[in-house]
Amino acid sequence: MTDKKPRWLLTQNTDMRRQGIYNWSIPAWAGTLPDGRNYNTCPSAGICAPLCYARQGAYRFPGVKARHEANLMMVLDDLPGWEAQMTAELQHKRYQGRWVRCHDAGDFFSREYTDAWMRVMRAAPGVKFYAYTKSVSLFREAVEPDPPENFKWVYSLGGREDHLVDVTIERHVDIFPDEESLAEAGYASRGTASEGCLVSVLGPQKVGIAANNIKHLKKKQGPHRWSDLQRAQDERRRGPGKQFESGRP
Ligand code: SF4
Repeated sequence: MTDKKPRWLLTQNTDMRRQGIYNWSIPAWAGTLPDGRNYNTCPSAGICAPLCYARQGAYRFPGVKARHEANLMMVLDDLPGWEAQMTAELQHKRYQGRWVRCHDAGDFFSREYTDAWMRVMRAAPGVKFYAYTKSVSLFREAVEPDPPENFKWVYSLGGREDHLVDVTIERHVDIFPDEESLAEAGYASRGTASEGCLVSVLGPQKVGIAANNIKHLKKKQGPHRWSDLQRAQDERRRGPGKQFESGRP
């Protein structure tokens, strides 16, 4: 990582470029910044943490990791400065009519940070925003009463606040072992990342994602969906009760 500031706060990987989506990313879950500060960007993470794709592969490349850490430090050290820079950047013509994904790693980790995002969205009415989130109680308070018109989100199961999501009526995604199991459970497939993660916010209310092909994560997940693993963990934590025989993260 050089000291040179990147020109853009928002980036695109190959799949996102194909779909015209821009992305803001911070590190996933918990860690230590280069200056020694500890962070947790996913306070509602549950069984998803040990199964998280955003803590594997390319996300661990030094350049990528450093960029995500720099993004987080900017938010932590100077939230008004980040908000001003993001708001200014989004006025650029390259973003008009496009989608911005808030976090392909990490989550809305505090009320202040979430409020700043809501102001950023309102100040960029020509841009569309979306997010997957496990911060359900935070969204109940900070977003749901008055969401920006240009923002769509989906609750993503596998977190400590799954029990707050009414899966019969609320938009949500769950991670299944494979395409067959999600179809059997009556979920619409999101397909692969290159086919479009927008399905989760624009498509049917129940969207399933087949587990990524990372071998050791597939093994950890076993034949279960993330929501089942989370429910089992919640039950274990509540006291003696049902336990999963296998596939426990
Ligand atoms: S909340 Fe998302 S980014 Fe954070 S640990 Fe869980 S799956 Fe990973």
